[in-house]
Amino acid sequence: MNMIQTVTGPVSPDELGVVSLHEHVYSGGGPALYADREDHSDFPYWDLPITIDILGALRRGAPNRENMSLNDEGIAVEELGHFAAHGGRTVVDNTGVGLSRDPAALRRIAEATGLNIITTTGFYKHETHPGWVKEMTADQVADLMVSEIEEGIGDTGIRAGSIGECACSEDPLPYHPEEEKILRAACRAQIRTGVGFTIHPSIYDAREGGIAAVGEAYIDLIEEEGADLDSFYLSHCDLSLDRLDYHLRLLDRGITISYDTFGYEGINSPEFLGGCRMPTDIERVDRIAALCRRGYDRQIVMAQDVGMRMLWKRYGGSGYSLVLEWAVPLLRSRGVTEQQLRNMLVENPKRILTPAPGGAG
Ligand SMILES: [Zn+2]
Repeated sequence: MNMIQTVTGPVSPDELGVVSLHEHVYSGGGPALYADREDHSDFPYWDLPITIDILGALRRGAPNRENMSLNDEGIAVEELGHFAAHGGRTVVDNTGVGLSRDPAALRRIAEATGLNIITTTGFYKHETHPGWVKEMTADQVADLMVSEIEEGIGDTGIRAGSIGECACSEDPLPYHPEEEKILRAACRAQIRTGVGFTIHPSIYDAREGGIAAVGEAYIDLIEEEGADLDSFYLSHCDLSLDRLDYHLRLLDRGITISYDTFGYEGINSPEFLGGCRMPTDIERVDRIAALCRRGYDRQIVMAQDVGMRMLWKRYGGSGYSLVLEWAVPLLRSRGVTEQQLRNMLVENPKRILTPAPGGAG
């Protein structure tokens, strides 16, 4: 059987249970974004501790070191406890190389919570790529990814179980040349290992002045490379939920779309959204229910993408359990069936994460 690699060892596909496919649990060493700036003086909230007095500014996008540093194992254990208490079993931490990924910390958190935690290999936006990556070819990056999946990350002995999140920035759309190289490498590593794979798409289109809708370019690239679309999910699709026509085109090309920013309601960072509108969580629920009525439940997954401290419950957020605790009952009340819920929470993640026959076991 093809096993899935978690930070505490391999598990069978049936042991995954309810999965949250796109989260961040731990990143050591502080924030990678903005960290290379020597001068943070134009960030008035950068060095302030998170208190209720500044949460409003943070929710409007003020950069803050503590907010961007998910480096507290104790809080991570406590926050994941809510996910487990509501029936969650498996979390994929999509913190890739260059974002202070820390597999050993993830293993301690997995042991403390009893959850399956899967760490990933991949690279976020090009500003976060370590210098040595720029010297590598796509095939060399693919070799590195395969080695992290098949042998382990550094000398930790911990194997990556999925590829992500490979991120694309906004200028130029749909990716920077360095990001295209990473996407091609990810496809080649996916073909060789059979594991799951996700892309963080460009979020906004500065020229058109709206949310970007460039997912079809990523599908073109994946098809050109020959990677498995059944193992792929496009992250953060709920940010573009105003574009139903676009989502239907993505679905009709056979990919899985990820509604994974549940809990971001009320967060409006111009840096992240380019001044566009953040959807509400009720809109996320309504859209998923509508897509289920059209029969797309085999191509939808849900998560909370907890990537900042203010998304943790302890800091006033809704944490890792919003989907299970709040969205699932609302989806039921809107006519989504138990089988459809099971597909979105269990079966689709299992299909994505399970290495296809012939891949790494
Ligand atoms: Zn992302």
